[in-house]
Amino acid sequence: MSTTNTTGSKVRVATVWLSGCAGCHMSFLDQDERIVDLAKKIQVVYSPLVDTKKFPEKVDVTLIEGSVANEEQLEMLKDIRVKTRVLIALGDCAVTGNVTALRNSWENSDQEVLERAYKLSEDLQAAVPNMVPKLLVKTRPLHEIVKVDFYIPGCPPSADLINYVLTELLVGKTPIMEGRARYG
Ligand code: SF4
Repeated sequence: MSTTNTTGSKVRVATVWLSGCAGCHMSFLDQDERIVDLAKKIQVVYSPLVDTKKFPEKVDVTLIEGSVANEEQLEMLKDIRVKTRVLIALGDCAVTGNVTALRNSWENSDQEVLERAYKLSEDLQAAVPNMVPKLLVKTRPLHEIVKVDFYIPGCPPSADLINYVLTELLVGKTPIMEGRARYG
């Protein structure tokens, strides 16, 4: 799958933070000065790192950190898939659910999480379900909902691995993950 831009303009890249700890985005930033080289070839059109409110049309590459834990994220992921050419699951939470899916072993995990997380007062417990997006009963990895084009496992994935994948994609090559990728 080619991500090179034949028009000569920069490749449009987005990064998205769903249910994750931000560690995968920290790893993205750990590319350090290599980001300067990337910036010559890519334009970050949407990210927690920039101030864009709405996911744009015609994105070439989207890296998604985190699993899908609530209905808002579910709809967002479907929208991103429609607007993205190459969708990458970034990190173990996006690839498998990882720690965010630990709650899946509870039968009514959505209710359990709400009760445990917001057990502050009876008033707040009654109000919270209307204040936060409705949780899915089970947290889900991206591929259970949409087609994923590449997986970058790791918790977090190393900056070297993220840089390798992006660099290969930008020159139209398919990254070879064998021997490079690891979980955890
Ligand atoms: S994969 Fe690890 S570092 Fe990335 S969001 Fe999940 S817990 Fe955080």
